[in-house]
Amino acid sequence: MDISVVVPLYNEAESLPELVEWNRRVMEENSFSYEIILVDDGSNDGSWDVIEMLQLQHPAIRGIKFRRNYGKSAALNVGFEAAQGDVVITMDADLQDSPDEIPELYRKIREEKYDVVSGWKKKRHDPLSKTVPTRLFNSVTRKMSGIPNLHDFNCGLKAYRRDVVKCIEVYGEMHRYIPVLAKWAGFRRIGEQVVEHRPRKYGITKFGFSRFINGFLDLLSIFFVGKFGKRPMHFFGSMGVLSFTAGLFIAIWIIAEKLIDIAHNAKFRNVTEQPLFFIALVAIIVGFQLFLTGFVAELVSRNSTERNLYNIEKKI
Ligand code: UDP
Ligand code: MG
Repeated sequence: MDISVVVPLYNEAESLPELVEWNRRVMEENSFSYEIILVDDGSNDGSWDVIEMLQLQHPAIRGIKFRRNYGKSAALNVGFEAAQGDVVITMDADLQDSPDEIPELYRKIREEKYDVVSGWKKKRHDPLSKTVPTRLFNSVTRKMSGIPNLHDFNCGLKAYRRDVVKCIEVYGEMHRYIPVLAKWAGFRRIGEQVVEHRPRKYGITKFGFSRFINGFLDLLSIFFVGKFGKRPMHFFGSMGVLSFTAGLFIAIWIIAEKLIDIAHNAKFRNVTEQPLFFIALVAIIVGFQLFLTGFVAELVSRNSTERNLYNIEKKI
C-alpha cells in the first residue's frame, strides 16, 4: 500500500464527509493505493456514526474509536500503530489542511528520501493571539531541538516514512514535537514543504491558551529525556558534586581562617558573621540533594523496561 492517511478527530462530524471525499479524489487522480484511518478521540457529536456511514461507502476507510477523549497525541499514536502504507500522512480533520498537498509530500519521501516532511503554514488563517505565540514557540523549538530548518513544528499536515512512525511513541501532548522525537530516534532527513492553510470551516478549535504553557514544558522534558533520559546521574550528579565540593571548600576555608587567626592571637571574625558561610552551607545542601536526585533517577531508569531499547536500523 502506498499511503496511509491518519486523521485524529474530536467532534468534527460536519467536516468528515468532505474530508473523505476530497482525499479519495486526490488518491484516485494519482492512482495511489491508500487507506484513511479515522481515529475518533472520544467525540460526543456523532462523529463515529458518520465514520460508520462513510466506511460502508468507501472500503479504504478504517475507523478507531476511543471510549473517551485522550487527546490528539494518543489518537495519532494508535493511528500510527495501525498504519500499513509505505508513507504515512497525518492531517487534521477540520479541513484546514488540504489533501491536494499529498502527492508532493509523497514524492518528497519516496524520491528525495526524506524521513519526515513537515508542512509549513506560511500564510495562516488564524487569529493574531495564536500566530504571534506560535512564532515564538517555533523559534525556541528550533534552537533547543537542533532542527534549524523547520518553521512550523506543530503543523497537522506531515508525511513520514513508515519506519519513523513505528519507531516513535507520541504521548501526552507531544504531537507538537514529532519532528523532534523523530530526530532523537535517529532519523536525520527532516524536510519541510510550504502548504496551504485554510480557515476552519466547521466547528471550533480544540486547544485554548494552555497550549503554549504545556507546549513549553513538554519541550523542556523532551530535551531533557532525549539527552539524559538514559543517564540522569550525569546531569544531576555533575551539578551536585560541583555544588557540594564548592560549598565544602568555602566552609573549610572560612573555618581555617578563623583557626589561624586564633593561633596567631590576631583579631578573628566569627564564622557565622560571614555571609559567604551561609552561601557555602546552601551549596552543600543543594549539592547533596542534586546528587540524591540523580541517584534516585538512575535507579528509576535502571528499572525501566525500556532501558535497553535501541533503534536498530540494519543488520547483516
Ligand atoms: N483533536 C483530537 N483530540 C483532541 C483535540 C483535537 O483528536 O483532544 C483533533 C481535532 O479534531 C483536529 C486536530 O486534532 O482534527 C487539530 O485540532 P484543532 O483544529 O482544534 O487545533 P488548531 O487547528 O486550532 O491548532
Ligand atoms: Mg485546526
